Amino acid sequence: MRRHRFAKIIATLGPATSAPETIRALFAAGVDVFRLNFSHGDHDGHRRRFEAIREIESATGRPIGVLLDLQGPKLRIGELAGGSAMLEEGGSFLFDLDPAPGSPERVALPHPEVFAALKPGTDLLVDDGKVRLEVETCGANFAGTRIRIGGEISDHKGVNIPDAVLPISPLTDKDRKDLVLGMELGVDWVAASFVQRPRDVLMLREAISGRAGLVTKLEKPSAVERLDEIIELSDAIMVARGDLGVELPPEDVPSISRRIVRACRSAGKPVIVATQMLESMISSPVPTRAEASDVATAIYDGADAVMLSGETAVGRYPVEAVDIMHRIVAQVERDPHYREQIGAALTSPKPTAADAISDAMRRIVQTLSVTAAVTYTNSGSSSLRAARERPNSPILSLTPHMSTARRLALVWGLHSVLSDDVDHVEEMVEQACRTAVAEGFANVGDRLVVMAGMPFGISGTTNLLRIARVPPPTSTAANLHAPAHPPSDRPPP
Ligand code: PGA
Ligand code: MN
Repeated sequence: MRRHRFAKIIATLGPATSAPETIRALFAAGVDVFRLNFSHGDHDGHRRRFEAIREIESATGRPIGVLLDLQGPKLRIGELAGGSAMLEEGGSFLFDLDPAPGSPERVALPHPEVFAALKPGTDLLVDDGKVRLEVETCGANFAGTRIRIGGEISDHKGVNIPDAVLPISPLTDKDRKDLVLGMELGVDWVAASFVQRPRDVLMLREAISGRAGLVTKLEKPSAVERLDEIIELSDAIMVARGDLGVELPPEDVPSISRRIVRACRSAGKPVIVATQMLESMISSPVPTRAEASDVATAIYDGADAVMLSGETAVGRYPVEAVDIMHRIVAQVERDPHYREQIGAALTSPKPTAADAISDAMRRIVQTLSVTAAVTYTNSGSSSLRAARERPNSPILSLTPHMSTARRLALVWGLHSVLSDDVDHVEEMVEQACRTAVAEGFANVGDRLVVMAGMPFGISGTTNLLRIARVPPPTSTAANLHAPAHPPSDRPPP
């Protein structure tokens, strides 16, 4: 089963998409990676959804990625008497550590570390920026503020403080517990929320210690300021436009988003564009034209993946949202202009064998009519370098490791297949041809380009590029393909 699409689709599972048959329908409609959002739901629910995904994987034989999204140090206010309070513009309002229910004059902000980082003039944004307050006076356990934009606030609403780098850990106690569950289940990716600086990324890397890939969510201005260092330390990046658009003016989001995608493409790190992509489909069976264009823009920029959040987690039309997202992506990829655009944003290869070979592979695909590129990979890194080139053909990524196959589900253009290591170049070519035919990527007589490292089984040895033609089924390749059948049982060629 192959998808006729290069960029990948991530869908968040939630109350609207917990039934195994719904998850199956999402997969059939085009989901490559499922996101479990640990800002919501309990461990039991996440475990059940995880198991449903793995069952679909066994049934279809297609490696599926699972991304655990940690809540991270999201700041929240405490409770209010009666559940809510109206804040009038121009009035004063106090944040403190008193757990007593709040009022129109005050509320708890139960994060003692935060007060130390506040200064007069700092903005506090409540409920995705709907209510804005400016700090006038502050101390170790309080902040007196002026209400700049009023409105209603209610229990446990989120607080964003865009201008401050806060002395808080990127991993809360809840995150640590969630991570234990994720590692026990065997998720493929972990996403880190509200990362503020490179050392937060290092701390997360340490906690995960190679058991999953690390996606750093860029949703804080302080993280965007140190973009290159953060990309270098991460395995993948998410442009988390939801919180980014709260912390920064909305007009800044498109250019920053595009800058992040470019920087990731240049580094060869997978990049996800996320949030509100088809937002109106939470309650409508069709997206707005602006939303369709938004998905298209991410694809024209060359993003690896586009993500659905509320659309699939709580929306009324989850399968329709995936279906339309698939159709928008596939349509953009058919546009000749798409190739021009992603080609123009391609940066020079690094001076390594893997990049030199990947660059040559892209040129060969362009020059000859090659139906698929085939990569052999252990850790996934050679396939990532191949995908970085955004070649004109799909990339069949062969690996003996299920964990690599699942992780690469996130990456542009890659179709992973589990395969055995081989000993000789001829065997390698045979296996590549056989797999390409079996997976629907090539027919007899089609040309493939194969890249690998010899000897096999060692990461970082890419040193071989081979152009091959798929042989007719009477050759050894066909015999290998169906070794169990005696010759008389074989259908005529
Ligand atoms: P969230 O992250 O959905 O976990 O908040 C994505 C975003 O902020 O865009
Ligand atoms: Mn967020």
